[in-house]
Amino acid sequence: MQTMQGIAVSPGVAIGEALIFDNEGFRIPRHFVVRDAVDEEVARLDRAIKGVGGEMQRNRDAVTAKMGGQYGAIFAAHLELLHDPQLRRELEALIREQHFSPEYAVSRVLRRYAKIFQQLETNSLAERAQDFFDIEKSLLRNLTGRKRDELASLTTPVILLAHTLTPSETASLDRKFILGFATEIGGAGGHTAIVAKGLEIPAVVGAGLFLADVSGGDLVIIDGDYGQIILQPDDDTVARYRREVEGRKSWAVRLAELRDLPAETTDHQRIALYANIEFPQEAATALERGADGIGLYRSEFMYLGADTEPTAETHLQAYGAVAKCMCNRPVVIRTLDLGADKMGLAPPGEEEHNPFLGLRSIRLSLRNPSLFRVQLKALLQASALGDVRIMFPMVTTLHELRQSKMLLADVMEDLEEEGLPFRRDIPVGIMVETPATVVMLDRFLREVDFISIGTNDLIQYALAVDRSNKEVADLYQASDPAVLRLINLTIQAALKADVPVSMCGQMCGSSTYTMLLLGLGLRVLSVPPSAIGEVKRVIRAVSIAQCEAISRRALTMDSAREVDKFLQEEVKKVVPELGR
Ligand code: PEP
Ligand code: MG
Repeated sequence: MQTMQGIAVSPGVAIGEALIFDNEGFRIPRHFVVRDAVDEEVARLDRAIKGVGGEMQRNRDAVTAKMGGQYGAIFAAHLELLHDPQLRRELEALIREQHFSPEYAVSRVLRRYAKIFQQLETNSLAERAQDFFDIEKSLLRNLTGRKRDELASLTTPVILLAHTLTPSETASLDRKFILGFATEIGGAGGHTAIVAKGLEIPAVVGAGLFLADVSGGDLVIIDGDYGQIILQPDDDTVARYRREVEGRKSWAVRLAELRDLPAETTDHQRIALYANIEFPQEAATALERGADGIGLYRSEFMYLGADTEPTAETHLQAYGAVAKCMCNRPVVIRTLDLGADKMGLAPPGEEEHNPFLGLRSIRLSLRNPSLFRVQLKALLQASALGDVRIMFPMVTTLHELRQSKMLLADVMEDLEEEGLPFRRDIPVGIMVETPATVVMLDRFLREVDFISIGTNDLIQYALAVDRSNKEVADLYQASDPAVLRLINLTIQAALKADVPVSMCGQMCGSSTYTMLLLGLGLRVLSVPPSAIGEVKRVIRAVSIAQCEAISRRALTMDSAREVDKFLQEEVKKVVPELGR
């Protein structure tokens, strides 16, 4: 048994067989073979070694002819490793003595070799680990007779383990078959993490190198609450986690019972609990969970993974579907927020050194007005179908806001000329995601209908911490006193100006912060659909006076650690089940 510590990004516990997704995603079909079959299985292994050897020879010859002997030597080295008698002996022993399937034996042995090389200090030797992974892959490909085991074609549930997963790969995961996932790199605020939460898949990212320690088919536990990956757990650990899973099921049932009850404090303050969504189909899930509206629809997910830019029609279909599904409840749609970790629309020109400080979000839209107009037109048309509101992301200067509003007014005129219906007084708001916006908020508030605090970015820009960099993940804290002060300033300014303020960053999806945020004055929270039940549970257990006392205390504290500890204790007092 081995426990890896990563970053918890999507809560929940998953127990299951590992599927290692290394862009070829091989699945080990069986781990063990029956005693009678070992001779045949060893023969199968030999056929695979022979087949792969032939392939490598052909590659070596072709590459040598095309590029010269030094490149051909790469395959010659693979060939030598493949035919190493020691390797063959080890594989045979595992099949004969432990009844491992050839696939499982290949994966175990070659990954162990790879691990030894990975740990060597010399870079050039450490890189040789890759050779072992390559040989493993070739043998598995031959043994399983499959070219690729696409994630899409899964038929049994697995735990996905990968070096990294892009947001669009994550988005394509099928909740039915992916019980949980873990990656070696990545940070808490990246979009892979957000999508995982949206899909309600327990996930851990940024756990460091662990793929060499695990083979496809091994039993693995993902603890999405504590950011742990447990490889080959012992029986006691499995039993403990199975109890945890059962406990969660009954907690989920109890939370589901709150669905039709209002998010109201004990002193009858009604809180609007909205949902954050990435895809139109999630609107139905949000409603099922009892959402009062959509507080953030991340429209850029429409661009992800698409080969061409979405057309006006594609935009309108998506927005219209959400607006209709939500039946006149508010639907806040954020305009394109592509940036650093959101792929699909690379900024033209050279690669950016600091993409998070580069051409992203509203800057990218304003730089591409024709693209922006297509989206604004669809948003306006969707406003005829429900209570649609427009939100601009990462606005840092008044000039950006004014330019965006001018473009919007322009598009309104076009629509009028075309005789298409839309709501002229459609509410227009901004996300508060940078300290600059907080400092200038009194000015912004004169020109917007609402604001929404985007803590995911506000934390990174306030604390100078890349939200998806695991090396500085410990500094990325919603509860950092500097962040709390910025949030407090934002809410106070909005209340003073009588402009509606909400929060849609991940922070408010964590029930640990619910009391703090209510105490600071927030009455509109937008959270992932999966978090609605738990946040509502806390809201219904507290009074505003209690929350205000808590937020006053928290604001006096010196460190994120102190704040978190205090808030965790306080939430446990009102909802003891949250004290896992
Ligand atoms: C945020 O920054 O808090 C936010 C909600 O936007 P995103 O996570 O999509 O950047
Ligand atoms: Mg953001």
